[in-house]
Amino acid sequence: MTPGLRIIPLGGAAEIGKNCTVVEQGEDIVIIDCGLSFPNEEQYGVDIIVPDFTYLVENRDRIRGLFLTHAHEDHVGALPYFLRQLNVPIYATEFTHAMIRQKLEEKTDVHSLDLRTLKPGDKVACGQLSVEPIRVTHSIPDTMAMAVRTSFGIVLFTADFKLDFTPIDGKKTDMSRLAALADEGVLVLLSDSTNVDRPGWSPSEREVSGAYQKFFSTAPGRILITMFASNIHRMQQAFDVALATGRKVAVAGRRMENTIDVCSRYGHLRVPTGVRIRLDDIGNYRPEQLVILTTGSQGEPMSALVQMSREEYGRMKVLPGDTILYSARPIPGNEAAIWRTVNRLFRLGAVVIYENAGAPIHVSGHAYQEELKTMINLTSPFYLAPVHGEPRHQHQYLEFARKMGYPEHRLFSMADGLPLCFDEERAWLGEPVPSGRMLVDNGGQPGVPDEIMRDRTNLANEGLVMVIAKLDIEKGELVEDLELDTKGLFASEKELANILSVVQSELQRWPRADLQDAGLVRSSISDEMRRHLSRRLKLRPIIVPVVIEV
Ligand SMILES: [Zn+2]
Ligand SMILES: [Zn+2]
Repeated sequence: MTPGLRIIPLGGAAEIGKNCTVVEQGEDIVIIDCGLSFPNEEQYGVDIIVPDFTYLVENRDRIRGLFLTHAHEDHVGALPYFLRQLNVPIYATEFTHAMIRQKLEEKTDVHSLDLRTLKPGDKVACGQLSVEPIRVTHSIPDTMAMAVRTSFGIVLFTADFKLDFTPIDGKKTDMSRLAALADEGVLVLLSDSTNVDRPGWSPSEREVSGAYQKFFSTAPGRILITMFASNIHRMQQAFDVALATGRKVAVAGRRMENTIDVCSRYGHLRVPTGVRIRLDDIGNYRPEQLVILTTGSQGEPMSALVQMSREEYGRMKVLPGDTILYSARPIPGNEAAIWRTVNRLFRLGAVVIYENAGAPIHVSGHAYQEELKTMINLTSPFYLAPVHGEPRHQHQYLEFARKMGYPEHRLFSMADGLPLCFDEERAWLGEPVPSGRMLVDNGGQPGVPDEIMRDRTNLANEGLVMVIAKLDIEKGELVEDLELDTKGLFASEKELANILSVVQSELQRWPRADLQDAGLVRSSISDEMRRHLSRRLKLRPIIVPVVIEV
């Protein structure tokens, strides 16, 4: 009997972010993507979130390869943490490799890695499994759907995709190859479902050119455009429209400059001769001759645009008369930081265009409803399991799959850590494997424990109280009055002094033997302070008791 097949999302199912999925049959495992997600505003001090790789570490000998669909952070950003624990062949297109190499060089010895180049049409043997990349359109070049061949049929990952028939680089989704897979037999489709709530068909990336054309030719002064540093096709349009409208383009932001260099080297970006100028030279041009591309579309504190909004960016200032095009989508969780930036820019006298003003300054890289249905029709999968979506997206996707005639037993809502299992007859959700999220601290250290996160939340919301007791351990007595110090606590000094003296008189009633036990004194100071602060002042700060033995 053929050993069963399992698909296990370690991230990216019932959520948007940290995509990482295991396909395993018998002794062989392939992994699709290795991404990160971003913390919400309450996850204090957390830089990024990556999947828990325990399951892969426990099965390291069976891993035949990691396949990267494209170079977005939610698909490749966890690599430095993956590579701390595992070294396996990493397959990606030349462009994706170039994009990740820069980042990896900062964190790992790139020469020790087994990086292998992949192109559409390749078939990579991985034991009983094999993997074939198929070109799809998305908001970054060289995005690949991945067809994993198994003894049960093809497991097809759409990757992030849209069906753009007029892509900027002319490289369209390979629909005939996808249709050919249907003849071979697609067992299950793991489809992007991010935009399942948007009816119709997503606008082509090319439509952004129209909006740029309008603003570049009518804006009275300089134009600043903020977008993702990886949005090469949009940068291409900015360069092309600048050429057509007689503007010059400067770039503010190190990541964006690096991306432009890498992409120009690999031919993914063609900067027209004479259009690009150095940021330091913008003073030589009139405002209406300038376009400045900048990072900071997500309100990132260290980015060029956010620093400009705070008037802290050394290389240029935002001025009245500037038009700022917000050419990106807010990643959920970043909205507050983005609006603060936008408001500061308005206060500086700039006009920020952040909504489609007649022509789109941003279009999504993810398929809308009709594109998602087209993908299902093209590939005729037996089972459907939407990913790259929250439970609400998965629910909606399965709703329209039902309308397309899919019966219940062929539809699955996957969740991280839950294997989707197959045998010759059926599919089912199996027992969970170790999975979860790993928080990476601002210092770069992975694995911030839950109790530290709880302390940070308490500290941020309630503040801290430190109580110092000086004890003569030999005699078993308090040497001086208790002392108190607070941070971030809003309470009257009188009330605090009262509470402290109550705690102190309780201690003074203790027998000597108890006062000789520093640990006991520490814990009861903590308990008593907590009780009184909570009861009298309704406060629940972090309490730090310090016993000094003299
Ligand atoms: Zn993407
Ligand atoms: Zn994605």
